[in-house]
Amino acid sequence: MKNEIDRAVEKDIWKDRTFETLVDKGAVELGLELKCSKCGNWGWHSLKELDHEVACALCRRKFKFPHLEPSSSQKSRWAYRLVGPFALPDFARGGYAASLTIRFFARIFGRQRETEITWSAGQILQLGPRDKVEADLILWHQRKSMLALDYQTELIFGEAKSFRGENAEEKRAIADAFEQEDVDRMKRLASRFPGAILVFATMKQASELSAGEVARIAKLAEWGRTYIRERRQTRAPVIVLTGTELFASFSLSEAWKAVGGQHAELASGILWRSERLRELADMTQQLYLGMQPYSEWRRERWERRRLVQERRRAVVAT
Ligand SMILES: [Zn+2]
Repeated sequence: MKNEIDRAVEKDIWKDRTFETLVDKGAVELGLELKCSKCGNWGWHSLKELDHEVACALCRRKFKFPHLEPSSSQKSRWAYRLVGPFALPDFARGGYAASLTIRFFARIFGRQRETEITWSAGQILQLGPRDKVEADLILWHQRKSMLALDYQTELIFGEAKSFRGENAEEKRAIADAFEQEDVDRMKRLASRFPGAILVFATMKQASELSAGEVARIAKLAEWGRTYIRERRQTRAPVIVLTGTELFASFSLSEAWKAVGGQHAELASGILWRSERLRELADMTQQLYLGMQPYSEWRRERWERRRLVQERRRAVVAT
């Protein structure tokens, strides 16, 4: 397990502290893996339960601690394991993805001193007497201003998935992280809170998103691009975060530059528009949903509307 963490934070300059932090916070626990002399299987044992005789969790028999060769790698090895809420299946039921998403908005995206974040995870919102909807993650994001009043706080709803959906195992072997019901739920939240930002965050890499997932989220993103005149903003900007963003070690622009290609191209514009969630939505929609840049999309729509009106006028004139 330590190796997996090392791999995930390979490029992280603070990586030596990462594992220490996990131990300090009680996310992982050190124990000893022992090979059962009765059935030959390896089992993990906490330091507290080590004794002259140890019980095998598999064959249920007791076997002797390897007193003669306690350091032989054939019989024992030190091992960490996840404990408490971190040991829940499917990567703590999306808990890691949710924590990484909060970390992304607090540390990776934008400058730390210029944004303030408040968050809440796993809330059920009562929208009406018989209308409940669950949000994995709710964030309030505020950009600070040095000289003027602070910007308006943005409300963010997040759907965070580790690699797959919650009940993925029962459904099929390789399941999508984001199912239609997840997208529908986000749409209900957006309809109730116009202007709120919707985040789909997964620990998967972009290439691992299925065509179905991309189409599903893109359809919602297109709906969200509609401009609401009274609010002077779009209906529901959709942000997609993948492993690239969630595992970024320092900043978004650095992480995107490392990916190269279109990521690197967009990264060059990040510096002057950091903290702007709507622009992040626009950029990630281009990167992960194959959508046009928002400005281009809007121009085309205006152009189309203008043509229709012209044609109508021509019809009236004749
Ligand atoms: Zn055994």
